[in-house]
Amino acid sequence: MIILVINAGSSSVKFTCFDMSGEKKVLAGGLIERIGIEGTSMKYTNNKGDVIKAEVAVKDAQEAVKLISENLIDPKHGVLKSLDEVKAIGHRVVHGGEKITDPVLIDDSVKATIRDCFSIAPLHNPPNLTGIEACEAVFPGVPNVGVFDTAFHSTMPPHAFLYGIPYDLYEEHKIRRYGFHGTSHAYVSRQAAALLGSKPEDVKVIVCHLGNGGSISAVDGGKCQDTSMGLTPLEGLIMGTRCGDMDPAIVWNVMNIKKLDTAGIDSFFNKKCGMLGLAGINSSDLRDIEEAHLAGNKQCTQALETYAYRIKKYIGAYMAALGGLDILAFTAGVGENSNTMREMVLKGMAGLGFKLDKDKNDVRSPEARFINASDSRIKIAVIPTDEEQEIAGQTLAIVSKK
Ligand code: ADP
Repeated sequence: MIILVINAGSSSVKFTCFDMSGEKKVLAGGLIERIGIEGTSMKYTNNKGDVIKAEVAVKDAQEAVKLISENLIDPKHGVLKSLDEVKAIGHRVVHGGEKITDPVLIDDSVKATIRDCFSIAPLHNPPNLTGIEACEAVFPGVPNVGVFDTAFHSTMPPHAFLYGIPYDLYEEHKIRRYGFHGTSHAYVSRQAAALLGSKPEDVKVIVCHLGNGGSISAVDGGKCQDTSMGLTPLEGLIMGTRCGDMDPAIVWNVMNIKKLDTAGIDSFFNKKCGMLGLAGINSSDLRDIEEAHLAGNKQCTQALETYAYRIKKYIGAYMAALGGLDILAFTAGVGENSNTMREMVLKGMAGLGFKLDKDKNDVRSPEARFINASDSRIKIAVIPTDEEQEIAGQTLAIVSKK
């Protein structure tokens, strides 16, 4: 069965085409960037080794999806004979609020819920919905499935998702913690159990998803108990350009200092803070910051230590929340690739049961693997995330049920 996975952002549409029959495999994938802006480009790759890069004229998501469909059936580099082969389309949707707690077949009421969440996910939900509508137009009659970033975290108990603010703000306005990156946390926590040779029901996992955005989750028996992002992705870890946890009084102090309105302060904490702001080298890319640290830049060293310390504190907190831990898993761009950051996070944690094997930690590999010493009480692993595969799998499960 052919399943197309779509991740539609404000100016880009990413896609992956899977053959889910038998041994699941990726047939083609790529992205269209700078949609509606000058310099729109497309990258398309397929499993025969073709790589197509082209400047394209694409003004909106519907034209982008149309272009993707044309490439999939292109006589030279296409992977399908006809678009009729596409049996379902899985969409990454960021916010499902409290109503959507599982992957769902998209209908008018699901679209209304996605729209209801525009105010709490203004950057993501509108383009996600546009991507769905584009697919409805280009692939008429093909079922669309929404896989929500917030869904995996819907099992958090109230004591983990409530803020210390008047209860009516939760009851009437749904101000609470939701969490994001759920598709990745779901996939990686399941893979972590598999790496241990156990069932998800039997293990306690902490997943550190460290990418440009970063979040950490505490998973017990396959169910999320807590996660570091909140009402929006701003809460929690120090990220590439997001501030993470801080004293709320900083908000009005910085608004006064920088003469910002609410839109200005929102953009400031999302785009100008985190490692970009802390390291002071005009880059949020951890590779640049690590390089400057190795070259002796003290502010970069301090920024990396601050980033690592926040992760360390969450690991401690989540071990308390879970009442123990079997496996700690690192994933996403930083988690999968930065041996330096993993070592910084785990430094001084032997007393809690973590012992890193330095040689294993320094190996670069695309495989899921243990990096703990043989006498480490808690297992430590690097597990590459694969959100597209997870979305394809969940989409298949929904349409198979139908
Ligand atoms: P997102 O999907 O949130 O955009 P990714 O998971 O792709 O992010 O991660 C991007 C981050 O991973 C960047 O900050 C990048 O610097 C970091 N990264 C990638 N490779 C390395 C590496 N070898 N060492 C340190 N950081 C890395």
